Amino acid sequence: MDINLSAEDLAFQDEVSQFLEEHAYKPGEDYNAWRMNWFKAAAEKGGWDVPKWPKEFGGPGWTPNQHYIWERETASAVLPWDLPFGVGMLAPVLMRYGSREQQDRFLPDIRARKVNWCQGYSEPGAGSDLASLKTKAELSQDGTTYTVNGTKIWTTMAHIADWIFCLTRTDDSGKKQEGITFLLFPMKDPGIEVTPIITLGGAHTVNTVYLSDVKVPVENRIGEEGKGWTYAKGLLQHERTGLAGISRSLVALAQLKENARSIKRGNASLMDEPAFKTKVARLEVDLQALEFTELRSLASAAAGAAPGPESSILKLKGTEIQQRIQKLTLEAGGLHSAAWGAKPVGPGFAKGGMQGYLSSRAYTIYGGASEVQRDVIAKNVLGLKRSK
Ligand SMILES: Cc1cc2nc3c(=O)[nH]c(=O)nc-3n(C[C@H](O)[C@H](O)[C@H](O)COP(=O)(O)OP(=O)(O)OC[C@H]3O[C@@H](n4cnc5c(N)ncnc54)[C@H](O)[C@@H]3O)c2cc1C
Repeated sequence: MDINLSAEDLAFQDEVSQFLEEHAYKPGEDYNAWRMNWFKAAAEKGGWDVPKWPKEFGGPGWTPNQHYIWERETASAVLPWDLPFGVGMLAPVLMRYGSREQQDRFLPDIRARKVNWCQGYSEPGAGSDLASLKTKAELSQDGTTYTVNGTKIWTTMAHIADWIFCLTRTDDSGKKQEGITFLLFPMKDPGIEVTPIITLGGAHTVNTVYLSDVKVPVENRIGEEGKGWTYAKGLLQHERTGLAGISRSLVALAQLKENARSIKRGNASLMDEPAFKTKVARLEVDLQALEFTELRSLASAAAGAAPGPESSILKLKGTEIQQRIQKLTLEAGGLHSAAWGAKPVGPGFAKGGMQGYLSSRAYTIYGGASEVQRDVIAKNVLGLKRSK
């Protein structure tokens, strides 16, 4: 694709940057009111609140260059808090496989950020091998209602979510990929218990969700019974593309260099130390290579293609790069990064360094672990076959 920006692209870049400046959060402002106004204003620009949605569903219908510009401009801005599960993950599934009724019922609230969704895929015995999931959904005799029983784990933000999209087993007689059914239900339904899991970095983002006799009307099933695996896989590819975080890494890398320059080493700085400089240079080269891969993926998306198995390359390399940036930031902060608590010790950027580093361990696990991405790349991108 052509990444030379045309006069129209440059005008668009100015428009985006002006929008971000005009709608930036002002200290003291009511955060929630600002957040909702930001999305409203972005919607009024013609789908800027849902940049990746197709035009027929209210998206902006941008060219690849415009997507590229949006990503780069927004990476260094403070954007309103947003979860990926509704707009980025469930919405594409609804658009492709949901009925017109389901689209009309769920998409407007997803778009308006009125309803928070969470993702009920993983189970205690089904993570990488997701298809072995056991949460059972039994259809009533009259064919109106499913009764769901089982346990979901690592469910991000389940404690604040209003609804869950959930993979359930409706048949275990055939291949494990068959007999999986994709259901949607409210988190306040009777029979749902959410308990927190506190991760290494000390944060509460993930949960265990216990489902006991949860009743789900058949209208809340996406597509056909037993075909959920197909829908779930499509969603994972959208999830993986979104996890690469390339624009954010470009900003974080620039910040890392600035931080390293502020650490004095005699007459020079940490950034001048060959060992450190080499690691930063390697990171920079890898990030640039990934940026080009992302541009290719944007070009095919703009030509109408859904993300394919190449999204595993973006996920794998993107998350490894994010971890390397966190690790070098930790190194640059040295001992000060280990300070745990509200009071900063040493250079300002070192605050929370250790928590950030520990939390970043999860990047190469969620959305499918790195080993699994390598498997997908080997089979579906490189076309390799397992030797007998
Ligand atoms: C912070 C965080 C947030 C998450 N949020 C969600 C969420 O919102 N919703 C949700 O459904 N899930 C979520 N997950 C779950 C996540 O998708 C799983 O943790 C992930 O798929 C790995 O599964 P597992 O933890 O069961 O590990 P396992 O599958 O047991 O894997 C353990 C190790 O074995 C390796 N391994 C497994 N199979 C293979 C293989 N075939 N070849 C080579 N190596 C292999 C893995 O790479 C890994 O290193 C989250 C996880 C984390 C850490």
